[in-house]
Amino acid sequence: MPEDCLFCRIVAGEVPADVVHESGTAVAFRDANPQAPVHVLVVPRRHEPDLATLTRADADAASGVLRAIADVAEAEGVAGGYRIVLNTGASAGQSVFHVHAHVLGGRDLAWPPG
Ligand code: 5GP
Ligand code: ZN
Repeated sequence: MPEDCLFCRIVAGEVPADVVHESGTAVAFRDANPQAPVHVLVVPRRHEPDLATLTRADADAASGVLRAIADVAEAEGVAGGYRIVLNTGASAGQSVFHVHAHVLGGRDLAWPPG
């Protein structure tokens, strides 16, 4: 685990977070700066920088993230309408380089995104 990775430290319980869901492969916690009434981050326990590296390195972990997204959406009451965002690369707004899916819901979401 990279010692300087914030999300590894949240997964390890070293940094507090409002955890809403856990599985053997993924952890979900509320975003500290929510952009919607429901804004949960789903991360694999395994450290990989983005979805491509995760999927190639560990397909079970990648599918575990997808399963956790579905479980979080249901538990948060937004399964009928929500958005998944994976900012990938600094130019797309990624600021934490441990792959994470934003699960956004609870309000109308405009399209196209900015
Ligand atoms: P990115 O910009 O990489 O797609 O998303 C990173 C997200 O992590 C941001 O939405 C930001 O609000 C969130 N974040 C940054 N630091 C923390 C933290 O310490 N705790 C939590 N729960 N979320 C954080
Ligand atoms: Zn990490």
